[in-house]
Amino acid sequence: MRRSDGRFAHARSQRYRVAAGVALGLAIFAVDTFTTLASAVAVLYVLVIVLAGDLGSRSIVRGTSAICAALTLVGFFYSHGADAESQSTLRLLFSLAANLVTTLLLLKNVGDRTILEAQARMLEMTGDAIFLRDRAGRIIYWNHGAEILYGWTQEEAVGQKAEALIEVGFPRSRTAAEAALEATGQWEGELKVRTKAGRELDVLCRWRLQRDMRGSMPTILETAVDISDRKAAEAALKASEHRYRTIFETLAIAIWENDFREVKGTLDALRDRGVMDLRPYIAENPEFVSRMRRAVRITDVNETALRLMAVPSKDQFFTRLDEFLPDSDARFGQFLVGIFEGQTEFQTETVVRSRDGRMIPILVALSFPPDGEGLDRIQASIVDMTERYEFQEALEASRQELEQASRAAMLGEISASIAHEVNQPLSAIMTFVQAGIRWISRTPPDVDEARSALQDAVTATEHAAEVVKRVRLLLGKAKSESAEVVIDTLVSEALRMKIKELTSDAVHLSLALGAPFASVQGDRVLLQQAFLNVISNAMQAMDTTAIGARVLLIESEMDGENVVLRFTDSGPGLGAQPPESLFKPFNTTKPNGMGLGLAMCRSIMMAHSGTIAIRDRIDGRGAVVEIRLPLASRAAMPVSISA
Ligand code: ADP
Repeated sequence: MRRSDGRFAHARSQRYRVAAGVALGLAIFAVDTFTTLASAVAVLYVLVIVLAGDLGSRSIVRGTSAICAALTLVGFFYSHGADAESQSTLRLLFSLAANLVTTLLLLKNVGDRTILEAQARMLEMTGDAIFLRDRAGRIIYWNHGAEILYGWTQEEAVGQKAEALIEVGFPRSRTAAEAALEATGQWEGELKVRTKAGRELDVLCRWRLQRDMRGSMPTILETAVDISDRKAAEAALKASEHRYRTIFETLAIAIWENDFREVKGTLDALRDRGVMDLRPYIAENPEFVSRMRRAVRITDVNETALRLMAVPSKDQFFTRLDEFLPDSDARFGQFLVGIFEGQTEFQTETVVRSRDGRMIPILVALSFPPDGEGLDRIQASIVDMTERYEFQEALEASRQELEQASRAAMLGEISASIAHEVNQPLSAIMTFVQAGIRWISRTPPDVDEARSALQDAVTATEHAAEVVKRVRLLLGKAKSESAEVVIDTLVSEALRMKIKELTSDAVHLSLALGAPFASVQGDRVLLQQAFLNVISNAMQAMDTTAIGARVLLIESEMDGENVVLRFTDSGPGLGAQPPESLFKPFNTTKPNGMGLGLAMCRSIMMAHSGTIAIRDRIDGRGAVVEIRLPLASRAAMPVSISA
């Protein structure tokens, strides 16, 4: 408001000046032309030009001057005509010269004033706070920026003592600042000032001592810029830098900062030279990798890195990568290829050599900025893998120990199983031989029956020998025999061996063998062993089933390119046990069981490219074991078994 009021007053006074100038010009013209005072009056036109000069425009001055000169000439010719006497002509020339000189002086004056006004406007327009104080400290000029920064208006500030008006906190003291100003003519510093509203601001302040032409009456020009935001940002940056430093130094992971600019520059230059694939280039120039290793400079490390590498202080740390990277390290070459191909993330395991000569296995990870910025400070984080490897080795050792122990235990169990399996034919042999003796001891001896009994004993003996042979094979010591075997025949043979037990256990056998020609390629004895085991399991399961309700159903059928065998019993079923768990070795629910039977069955089936599964009957009254084997035409390959 104040400023616009001023502008209106200024415009008003300008209008008065114009009116006065015009009136004065007309009056001079009238007197000059129509009175006898003659041309001496025309000199007074300079007053009109001076009035025009106050308007501050060079063109107005020039225009007014031209009009005045024209009026002078008109007045002259009107009163003197063409034949003027020489005195009048001289006066005319004098008036015109006065007009010209005044005009020139005014034009220069107007120019100077325009510059001064522009400077004053600039001072007002600048965002910086600017004020001028005299030697006594009294404010004599106060710009708009100062009004905004400090809060006091020009009227309030001018005439006040700056020291009393603005509360200032100096970095050292005001006296020291004033002394510096006196000595050098200037002072500069960051201050804390309090505004009219009581706000505390950080300002960057400059003082200049200005003397007038005679060197007396010095004034001091003070400029101030509000740097509170910058200071706050700087403080935040400092705090974050401090935080980062603390993390950097105290991290349990070793960190070292590397300068990769030279490496990147060399790789870029290679590309510019037309190298498209770095691998062949490295193969042809093996010294390139070591040169690049020397080119990586270490710029900073944290405390953990110092401890890891047994270096007492930062300034004694390795300065180049190749000082602690063993020559055998092949990873660096791969790393160079990665950088060359634009990879930005790297993680690798390698070995470094500490200052005390230890070889330390480490995991190192670093990332390259995709925009290529900050190549001088690439941070690599390093984890010491020594303990982890030691732990892994210990773990591996104990795993092996455990494996050995369980293998020994398994061998013990298997031996028991062998004894069990061999015991069966042995007791059969015993029964047959005793029967033979009984037939011979008869009177008369029944030689035919005795021969038949002894023949059965021979068959059982052969079977015992076969069992031993196959068990050895299971343990990986003998070779399996592969031939084409008819599954239904194999099942019948197995049943022949179990028929006595089945009868004595009162198990009703129901046979539905529907694949009389289905043959599989495999080991007859192993397959038979598996079937015998499944039958034994079914019989044992039916121990608790009421006599009369013990039924074992054995079915076979073709299913596409497979033959399927199903053993269904009327035992209690699987109960809560997950079917798959029953195939795990030593998983048994029987007091004298070993839990090896189904595991062996599965190994045998897998060796024949077949499967075996166990499940509850749909009616829940027993279990079903299903064996599926590929037909011979498809499985004509040798059988191999791993123990
Ligand atoms: P084990 O010699 O101990 O019987 P197996 O591997 O032959 O070992 O069988 C493991 C377990 O599977 C058995 O202890 C039993 O609990 C279960 N099992 C096997 N066959 C049957 C079946 N027909 N009915 C119910 N449970 C069975």
